[in-house]
Amino acid sequence: MSFILGLTGGIGSGKSAASQWFETQGITVVDADIVAREIVEKGQPALQQIQQTFGDWVLLENGELDRRALREYIFKEPEARHQLESITHPAIRTSIIQQLQAATSPYVILVSPLLFETNQHQLTQHTLLIDASEDLQILRASQRDGQSIEQIQKIIAAQMPREKKQELANDIVLNDGHIDHLHTKLAHLHQQYLTRSKNEYSQ
Ligand code: ADP
Repeated sequence: MSFILGLTGGIGSGKSAASQWFETQGITVVDADIVAREIVEKGQPALQQIQQTFGDWVLLENGELDRRALREYIFKEPEARHQLESITHPAIRTSIIQQLQAATSPYVILVSPLLFETNQHQLTQHTLLIDASEDLQILRASQRDGQSIEQIQKIIAAQMPREKKQELANDIVLNDGHIDHLHTKLAHLHQQYLTRSKNEYSQ
């Protein structure tokens, strides 16, 4: 098992930009958001469990998950959220662990917007926060997704406060400048992570 780095940050902070840079350095990145979608793909056991729990209406005609219908249902029935999460969270965790274990790069990254909120940081040995002011988060996320400022503010409000994440993270990179500036800061940390993985995790 190699050294696992947890990478997090609020919406629009630059997690994906940072992940992409690490990938250019040959580091495997496991993305919790992607895993969350994979485990409810057609034919996956978690999707079958969701169907058994809530009914056939959760499936579209082509057998895929009707995300919109499920989202609306959960919005109306708060208890259903817990039921759903009791199915999805263990499946996500198992798949993340499998993917982390399969990685062969010098160290491996788990990127998750809810790394601390969902205790996924417990799967990691070290954490890196990509940090940005709320104004920058809103600007970047709205340019990327075309979402309204209000929608993005709502998402930020539902995430762990920035200050709390700053307290919990081992390393913090403030992504408030040019993208090259972000890459320079990451390159410095990358060397530290390589050294650590070599010293502590090689046989
Ligand atoms: P996250 O994954 O944390 O939600 P992204 O990495 O997708 O955030 O960044 C949000 C948007 O801002 C993307 O379009 C990205 O290309 C852009 N971005 C990220 N960092 C910078 C930067 N330092 N300068 C300019 N644009 C940036």
